[in-house]
Amino acid sequence: MFRRPIFAANWKMNKGPSDTQAFVKSFLSKLTGRPACDIVIAAPFISLPTLSESLRDARGVEMAAQNCSQFDDGAYTGEISVKMLREILVRHVIIGHSERRSIFGETNAVINAKMKKAREAGLKLIFCIGETLEERNAGILENVLRTQITEGLAGITAEDMDDTVIAYEPVWAIGTGVTATAAQAQEAHAFVRSVVTELYGSEIAQKLRIQYGGSVKPNNAAELMACPDIDGALIGGASLEAQSFVDIIVNGCPAD
Ligand code: PEP
Repeated sequence: MFRRPIFAANWKMNKGPSDTQAFVKSFLSKLTGRPACDIVIAAPFISLPTLSESLRDARGVEMAAQNCSQFDDGAYTGEISVKMLREILVRHVIIGHSERRSIFGETNAVINAKMKKAREAGLKLIFCIGETLEERNAGILENVLRTQITEGLAGITAEDMDDTVIAYEPVWAIGTGVTATAAQAQEAHAFVRSVVTELYGSEIAQKLRIQYGGSVKPNNAAELMACPDIDGALIGGASLEAQSFVDIIVNGCPAD
C-alpha cells in the first residue's frame, strides 16, 4: 500500500523566534520542487507563533509541538495545554520522545494520558518509541516495543490511528551519529507494524506511517527510506540546518 512519507524536524531546545524566522526563510528558498511527502517542523513552544507566521505562505509545511500537558488547565506550573496549542494553530504533537522518557521521567502511563488529551483536542500524534542499547543487547527489543506500543496506544481508537504516526527511534541512535542499519530499522518497523496489526487489524496497520529517527542525515536518508516499512523520518540534529533538512527530504523522497 502507498503511504505518503512524512519528514519531521525535531529542533528540541534549539532556535528561538529569530532563528526560527531565519531558518524558514532559508529552508523555503532551498526547497524547490514539490517533494511528494508531508513536512512538519517541531519547534520550541516559544517559537511556534513565529513559525506559524513564517510558514503562512508555505503550503504543505505544518507545525508540531514537542510535548503537551496531560491536563486541561489549572495549577501546573510550566506546562502547556493542548487547547493552547490549538489556539496557535499547531496541528501535530510529538509524544513519548526518549528524552522526555529518560530525562523527564515520562512513563508509558503519562505518555498515554498525553496521547488521549491530544486526540481529544484534535491534534495529530507523532508517537515515539524505541529501545536502549542495553535492551537491544539483552534481546528484549520486541518486548520493550510491544509494551510501549500497547500501553501508549491504550484507549486510542481506530479512528484516532488515522491521525497517528509512530516514530521508531532506537535510543542508541539518537544524537549519537550511529544510525541503525537499513536492515535493523526495517526489521523493527515490520515488528511495529505487526503489533499494530494485532491491536487494530491489518487495514489500519497498513495505512499507518512509521517514521525512523536516529541520526538520519542527507547521506543515509535514501537507503533508509527505500525500506518497505519506513515511511519518513523524525530528524533532530540534521534538521537544524536548512540545507541538510532539505537534502534529507529530497534524497529520501522523490519529487512529485
Ligand atoms: C530525535 O531527536 O528525534 C532524533 C532522531 O535526533 P537525531 O536526528 O539528532 O538523532
